[in-house]
Amino acid sequence: MSQTMLVDTHCHIHEAAGDDDVAAKWHKAGKHDPDELQESARAEGVTRLICVGCTLPDSDLAVEFVRNRDGAWASIGIHPHEAKDYANFIDKQKKFANLAKRPKVVAVGECGLDYFYNHSSKQDQEKILRFQIELALEHNLPMIFHVRDAFDDFWPIFDSYPGVRGVIHSFSATEVELAQIIERGLYVGLNGIMTFTKSETQLAAAKAVPLSQLLLETDAPFLTPAPLRGSICEPKHVRVTAEFLAKLRGETLEDLAISTTENARKLFGLE
Ligand SMILES: [Zn+2]
Repeated sequence: MSQTMLVDTHCHIHEAAGDDDVAAKWHKAGKHDPDELQESARAEGVTRLICVGCTLPDSDLAVEFVRNRDGAWASIGIHPHEAKDYANFIDKQKKFANLAKRPKVVAVGECGLDYFYNHSSKQDQEKILRFQIELALEHNLPMIFHVRDAFDDFWPIFDSYPGVRGVIHSFSATEVELAQIIERGLYVGLNGIMTFTKSETQLAAAKAVPLSQLLLETDAPFLTPAPLRGSICEPKHVRVTAEFLAKLRGETLEDLAISTTENARKLFGLE
């Protein structure tokens, strides 16, 4: 137990209490009690977390979940995988947009482009990304971006909207993409990937992220950090990733924690 305070800026624990496929993953691991997840996170100093939505119902769930819960906030998003279910459905878009006004909604996302899986067409992904950027600007909310193998198409879209703030979540690209992110004043979200990647270029990029633009996250229940691979990822594991990164970057855990927590508060509010 320590006084070091950390923020999990990206998790999906609101899904643990549900009854769908994702919830099943939590249940199988015996981790279906969100109170317990939050309590064990607190014990590791992870006192704040953001529950990130990926669809309309999932975002709605996140918003409800954080409503009467201390130390938890929500981000509403339509994941690029799901863009096909929203691109041509104005009704769903309107319902989604209404969520932006709800209490404790601190961001829009995760949204972006994913050309690795291409579960939705590029055209639909762009449409739904633009829709969410416009929503974020309208409500002056920061954004949580998911960009996989798609930075070349992402930047022209992003650059066409001056004033967008946010984070590139689950960053795992190279120093080339890192420079593009940093020059735009965006934050970089690092998670458990860094603890188990074998890629020297990924590690070099993680090392090069300016401390003033670094955020920590888990993406729980996914991306469990080493050496805990094989167990389900929880918000408390932010600490494992933080310890790894502090060592990699030649910083103290305390300095890394103070800066990343301050960055998260600055970007998302979280008061
Ligand atoms: Zn996620």
